[in-house]
Formats: sequence, C-alpha cells, structure tokens
Amino acid sequence: MAMPSEIMKTTTEREDKHPEVVSSEIMKASAQSQSKHPKVVHLLDSVKKTAFVVGTALLVFAAARNSITWHLQQFWGASGDFWQRQWTFIYQLFGEDDVFIGIWGTLGFTTAVFWLANLLFLLIDITGKPAALIKYKIQQDKNIPVPFPKLMKAVQQVLFNQIILGIPFSYVAYQVMQWRGCSHKAEDLPTFQWVLLEMFVFSLVEEICFYYTHRLFHHPRVYKYIHKRHHEWTAPIGLVSIYAHPVEHILSNILPPTLGPVLMGSHLATSWMWFGVALISTTVAHCGYHFPLIPSPEAHDFHHLKFNQNYGVLGILDRLHGTDEVFRTTKAYQRHILLLGLSPLTQQIPDDTKDKKSNISKGKLE
Ligand SMILES: [Zn+2]
Ligand SMILES: [Zn+2]
Repeated sequence: MAMPSEIMKTTTEREDKHPEVVSSEIMKASAQSQSKHPKVVHLLDSVKKTAFVVGTALLVFAAARNSITWHLQQFWGASGDFWQRQWTFIYQLFGEDDVFIGIWGTLGFTTAVFWLANLLFLLIDITGKPAALIKYKIQQDKNIPVPFPKLMKAVQQVLFNQIILGIPFSYVAYQVMQWRGCSHKAEDLPTFQWVLLEMFVFSLVEEICFYYTHRLFHHPRVYKYIHKRHHEWTAPIGLVSIYAHPVEHILSNILPPTLGPVLMGSHLATSWMWFGVALISTTVAHCGYHFPLIPSPEAHDFHHLKFNQNYGVLGILDRLHGTDEVFRTTKAYQRHILLLGLSPLTQQIPDDTKDKKSNISKGKLE
C-alpha cells in the first residue's frame, strides 16, 4: 500500500481523481490506528474470510446435494440420450478433430454467444428505441442513444481482445486442457450432479480471482495504466464487459472463468456451457438496463458509477471485505432484486439528489 505522501503525489499527478485513492488513504489511517502491523492483520483477515466463505459454501453444498440433485438427476438421466446426440452432432461437425473443436470451436462458440447476446442490447442502445424498453435504463439520461464514435472505439478494442488475444489464449488453454485430461467425446459427458458441482466451483473460483485482480487494478499506482480504460464508461453498455486493456482482459476476463474447468478437468461441453453462462452474465451486468426477470445489473452498474464499491461478481467477497458498505445504503441497493413486475424499479424506488450527494461523501469518509 502506498505511503500517504505518495498517495498525495499520485492524486495530484492523476488526470482524474479516483475515489480509491481517497479510500486507500482512509483505510490505511484506520488500519494503523487499530494495529501496529496493519498489512499482516489485513491479509490474515482476508484469508480467514475467504476460507470461511469457501468452507461454508462447500459444507452447504455437501449437505444439500443429495436431496436436491437426486430429483434433477432423474430429469437429466431421462434426457441424457438427447444431450449425447446433440454433442455427437457438434463433435462430428468439427470432424471429430480435438484440436479443431478445442481451439476454433471454443473461440467460435464464445464469440457467437457474446455477439448474439450483445446484438439485442446494441439495437436498443443505438436506436434509443423502443421507449417501452428504454424506461428500464438504470442511469436514465446516459448513453441513449449511445455516441457512435465512442461505440466504435469500444467495438475495435473488443474485437482486438477476442481475435488477437483470443486465438493465442485459446491455443494455450487447449494445450493445458489436454494435459489436464479434459475429454471432448460424447461418451464421456458428465452426469447432471457433477455438472452442478462444477458450476458451483467455477463460480467460486471466478469470484475469488476476479475480485482480487479487479481490486488490484483499482490500486492508485496501476489504475490509470490499465483499468481506467474499462471505466471510461461510467454508464456501461453490454459490450463494455470486455472493453478492457489487454492485460486486464487476460488476467480479469479470460483467466478467472478458464481456471475452474482446468482445475476440475472438465469436459469440453461443460466448459462451453460455463463460458456461455459467464459471457451472458457479464453482458447483463454491464447492459445498463434492469429488465424484468433478468439478474439484477445494479451492483456492477453502481461500480461503474462510483468506482470504489462492488468489485466482485457474486457479491460474497464484497460483503466480507466491506466493499459494498456504501452501496448497501443506497436506493440502487434497494433496487438490486429480481424484477418480477413490469413497472421499472427506477420508478418504484427513485433516486433522490440528496441521497446521491450523501453517498458520495459517505464513500470518502469510509
Ligand atoms: Zn465493468
Ligand atoms: Zn473497476
């Protein structure tokens, strides 16, 4: 952590002030007042908290899995032949060539999922229509319609990340998966119960890896060189999810979701399913609209608005590290639910300007 004088220096050198500079300084002052070895205490505290989350989650899963998954396994088992036929069809489409499906298949599948999901949002963002959907915009007056030059700049970076970084990464990931013994064959498709366990592990691995790399990129000494690019969008749109500096794209966007399948030695079909879920989930988190029946994007939208809150994906580590404390006092947090009706949450729970100002000052005080 930077010394106070260095923080002041960094602050004056920065083109725009990042609230993390302020919070780092305050966190340091507060930690110093509590202990003679704040770094050690903070690190131990983090490790204990993480071990607690992972341990509790695994225990809950172990306790509940037999009853929950038995019923679901019946369904999966009954339709097992169906899934095997589908995967056999895909595998044959790639000539039963492991290299072809492992590298180019994975790249093609993830790129197609990303653009299909984003096309739907882009149509609304570019046209600013229909009004029936625009009313669900979280930051209501921002990027509607989205400025074309800004959008083109983002598209260029996204394509660079997907193609120039994606191809070599896909090649390396394939080699690692082969070494790990990951199968591509239809007869090796896993049971439903196993897929469920894998999804659970993938989510935890991503939460841990994304949270800490993301927080690292917010450190005042590195923020302006790497992560500032992603935060050019204070009111994000779907494709901003992978609009990032190449270093960030590798460390925060591609590695965290890939590590889970490597760790578990997963079947290619399971990896594809997970990559699809992760890509749709991050697109929704950045889309800027809180539509009915979709997971709430309020937390990450708030991160883009305020910078020093909500660093994680699931919110578990934010709760444990207290990096959602300001968020939890806001109207955005009250709106952070699954919308079941048609009335937009910004109308049901509107922001008031007084709240906005007090939240900013709270962020600085904490
Ligand atoms: Zn983001
Ligand atoms: Zn960030």
